[in-house]
Amino acid sequence: MFNYTIEGLLLNVFFVAFPLIFYQFLLNKKLEEKPALRNALHYSLFGVSILLCMFFPITIQPGLQFDFRILPFIMASFYSNRTVSVALVATLVGVRFALGGEGAYLNLISSSLALLCITIAEKKYHTLTLANKMAVSAAISFFCKLVGIGCNYLFDPSYVSAHAVTFYAVQSVFMALMIYIIESIRKSFQLSEELIESEKMKVVSVISASVAHEIRNPLTTVRGFIQLLTQSQVDQEKKLQYGKLCLDELDRAQQIINDYLSLAKPHPEQSETLNVGDEIYYVSKVLTSYANLSGVEIVAEFDVDLYVTGDRSKFRQSIINIAKNGIEAMEAKGGVLTITAKRHKRYVVLRICDNGNGMTHAQISRLGSPYFSNKEKGTGLGTMVSFNIIKGMMGHINVQSELGQGTEFQIMFPSVS
Ligand code: ADP
Ligand code: MG
Repeated sequence: MFNYTIEGLLLNVFFVAFPLIFYQFLLNKKLEEKPALRNALHYSLFGVSILLCMFFPITIQPGLQFDFRILPFIMASFYSNRTVSVALVATLVGVRFALGGEGAYLNLISSSLALLCITIAEKKYHTLTLANKMAVSAAISFFCKLVGIGCNYLFDPSYVSAHAVTFYAVQSVFMALMIYIIESIRKSFQLSEELIESEKMKVVSVISASVAHEIRNPLTTVRGFIQLLTQSQVDQEKKLQYGKLCLDELDRAQQIINDYLSLAKPHPEQSETLNVGDEIYYVSKVLTSYANLSGVEIVAEFDVDLYVTGDRSKFRQSIINIAKNGIEAMEAKGGVLTITAKRHKRYVVLRICDNGNGMTHAQISRLGSPYFSNKEKGTGLGTMVSFNIIKGMMGHINVQSELGQGTEFQIMFPSVS
């Protein structure tokens, strides 16, 4: 029964399978936006496959030949679209008529029947399980071909149809196999898409939570200054100074929101040369009101002419987050927060020291990971954001801490002249 020329069979299997090697490259977002190009590529891929099957059939005995041409057609119809499947039917029928013979009519019957079956099944098809998809496709390939052969039998009763039945049974097995492969390709594509999407959502959710957190710093500062302005007798000069600091802080808050909102379409950061002394001075001024509320004094000491490269707003933010933690660590008993900057060889070394409650080794090792917080209202995002900014500026962080004694953050940035 299975006296096929093995070369013919293998060649047909190859002709049917090779479009699947390329099919995975056609599954991408960019191509989805160009339907005409995608259709043309699908048409060429499956069209070539169909023609090759037709021109290199499997010979069973002299004069009796079969081929797998219906398989690429069914695959294209289910996994591309109507335009492609109609174009393929037209090509298939046209070429077969050009070759001549009675077979052309049988081909017309089986191909149109396949198109009809697929059109009917199409809507439900993609909701089916993998096994059912394989079964449906195999059944369509078997049924349509058999009807074609059945018509032949009506005209020519001498026709030996047993060969045809076994051949089409074998063909159905390959049909199911091809569906299995094409579905696996689509599945892995879908998974990688979902992975990218979930990764993006994770970052967006982390960042959006930190926006709320970061906005708290400027708001606290502004609140402190407004409290000062309304409570005590402040001279005109101080009023102007506080007013300006409030405006600066509100601008910073706005800048943070803008920065994070534009996360989806990143714009180039403004990298510039920063005078570390100026920035430390600014940070200490900005945090003063917050520190005052906790009975903490801020001391800033720095060498002149220390320069690093980076985005000003982000640099400030990274220092503020760390310094703010220092202040919060001393909340209970007050203390001194020291911020110093010195040159050490080719580095600018920043030290942020507090004499607050300190941390254990386990806590130090978790610093910088998201949502690690020991505070009732903490978000555990401050150090993560700071560390990311510092690493982005090619900086190194070293933390030393002792429970009950205090903490020192040492940050080294490459120095620029
Ligand atoms: P949050 O301040 O919202 O808790 P952070 O990421 O800024 O989040 O800090 C994470 C945790 O690290 C804090 O909850 C705190 O326990 C610990 N921590 C950070 N800096 C210090 C410090 N200077 N002294 C003591 N603990 C600190
Ligand atoms: Mg914090």
